[in-house]
Amino acid sequence: MTEPLYLRDSYLREFDAAVVAVDGRAVALDRTAFYPGGGGQPPDAGRLAWDGGEGGVVEMRREGAAVWHVLDVEPPTPGARVRGAVDWARRYAIMRHHSALHVLVGAVYRLYGALVTGGAIHPDRARMDFSLEDLSRERVAAIEAEANRAIAADLRVRVRFVSREEFERSDLTRLARNLVPQDVTEVRVVEIEGYDAQADGGTHVARTGEIGHLRVTKTENKGKANRRLEIALDPPAVPGAVGAPRPPSSPT
Ligand SMILES: [Zn+2]
Repeated sequence: MTEPLYLRDSYLREFDAAVVAVDGRAVALDRTAFYPGGGGQPPDAGRLAWDGGEGGVVEMRREGAAVWHVLDVEPPTPGARVRGAVDWARRYAIMRHHSALHVLVGAVYRLYGALVTGGAIHPDRARMDFSLEDLSRERVAAIEAEANRAIAADLRVRVRFVSREEFERSDLTRLARNLVPQDVTEVRVVEIEGYDAQADGGTHVARTGEIGHLRVTKTENKGKANRRLEIALDPPAVPGAVGAPRPPSSPT
């Protein structure tokens, strides 16, 4: 079982852990800050170092409650202590694009009441599909303007855990309610304060101001009442906002 440190602290980029299992060049750790992939967000890359060796993490996989890190070298042995370092430039770019999609969801819902049908996140772009029939040039311009207004407002992005009952009672279910498995008793909610809230397992920036200027780069017709929006980001104007280091939230 791997403790998913990334669920509580998106800004954790280095951590200490122990190897609990080895399979070929893959190691399972007792805790990790590496995001293993899921929900449209790609897995992290980075490095692991241990007494007598180090290697790059080139692939991730999740098996039950274990998170596996596939290395590009011969792995350490079970019980070894490792120091992990997430490729931060890549991850932070992914976080900005992930949070940007949530702003986009809020903007499209606000303007046209449309729901999300799918999405994908990359370090340099992201896309989201909406249950929308009309995506005219005017509508795209309105969506872009509304999203950038929410980004400029520098809204707080909060991660919290709510009980299943609270989740069911709330309107946090813009993504279909049944996507959260029935055996989950605590639901992780990512909330852009006063703007959007969703059940979500990904990593996010702390404030919308970190996202930067959003541009819709492409729209696509993906069938009746399904429209795709592809976005790209320009870095925020505020100096120091990109990747600004933050003290760790808990001692490691
Ligand atoms: Zn998300």
